[in-house]
Amino acid sequence: MNHPYRIGVLRRRLSRAGLPGLLVTHLPDVRYLSGFTGSSAALGLTRRTAKLFTDGRYTAQAAEEVTAPQIDVEIGSTPPAVAAVQWLAAQRGVSFSAFDPASTTVADLTRWKAVLPAGLRRSFLSPLPASLVEPLRRQKDDDELALMSEAALLGCRLFDHILTFLRTGLAEIEIAAELEHQARLFGAEAMSFETIVASGERSALPHGRATSALLPRRGFLTLDFGIIHKGYCSDMTRTVYLGQPRANERSAYEAVLEAQQAAVAAVSAGVSCSEVDEAARSVLRKAGLGDAFSHSTGHGVGLEIHEPPRVGAGQTARLQAGMVITIEPGIYLPGKFGIRIEDMVAVTRNGFEVLTPAPKALIEL
Ligand code: ZN
Ligand code: ZN
Repeated sequence: MNHPYRIGVLRRRLSRAGLPGLLVTHLPDVRYLSGFTGSSAALGLTRRTAKLFTDGRYTAQAAEEVTAPQIDVEIGSTPPAVAAVQWLAAQRGVSFSAFDPASTTVADLTRWKAVLPAGLRRSFLSPLPASLVEPLRRQKDDDELALMSEAALLGCRLFDHILTFLRTGLAEIEIAAELEHQARLFGAEAMSFETIVASGERSALPHGRATSALLPRRGFLTLDFGIIHKGYCSDMTRTVYLGQPRANERSAYEAVLEAQQAAVAAVSAGVSCSEVDEAARSVLRKAGLGDAFSHSTGHGVGLEIHEPPRVGAGQTARLQAGMVITIEPGIYLPGKFGIRIEDMVAVTRNGFEVLTPAPKALIEL
């Protein structure tokens, strides 16, 4: 990870925006910029210096993880963000400091203002119209892409494993538990979100958490899961069939698969998110399933499971090389069944690279 480079890029953006200082409190942003993975931290940045604030529990960890010579570390008993605000206010030439309101509560702001000298309380902290760190995080560098590919492949190995585990009579939660148990044994740090195991009619719930429901003898089974590998999230969905699918179920699956493949094929730097969404949506519309596709086609993924951009209708943002997005169209027919297929896709200059090569042709178990 090249943290000095990231700090350099951020500092140039700070200058360009005419900002003398920046307070970073969103932990994934702090990790991205400094390498620090602790759960209590804030970063203060000026055009000349940068300092990471954390508490005494993290003395050794901060020394180990924060290796960029541009970033000083201060350990203290004051809450890190409060210490960072005080530090920023004491820096020469820093007449005000920006902060990201999207990751700040009203209570945070009140606390921060309370420690400022009376003359600075009203004007020192200035909310950013949009995060300065998030646009950097959107475009993954080569190191990040390598980690995300490893994360995605670990997810695919888990899917292979779970196929050998599935049998009628199992409860959904047993499948989720087996996935999560094996994930740890395969080296995952954690799951990136609550595992979705939805069988039979429950597959019509886009976010069907695993329940004690037993797998039916016949019907779809949707598995949507992800792991965290060195901080980076994976996310994939496969829908398999227990028993032999009926003709209408098979044709619905083929339509979702075609929509998913059309959206993947539409991915390339410069293409708008709405165009990718429309590639999937138009296939399902033609199949008479347009209304059953009730969510966006995908989302960015990285240090967080849901990151910008949103790949949905009306989203004019354009894809950039280095972004990693999911492509996950699905259809949901309440009382009947649901189907979703999701890959992680890296955007390249001329197209895309699928990071989750697990099979997508309908698997009948
Ligand atoms: Zn997912
Ligand atoms: Zn997803």
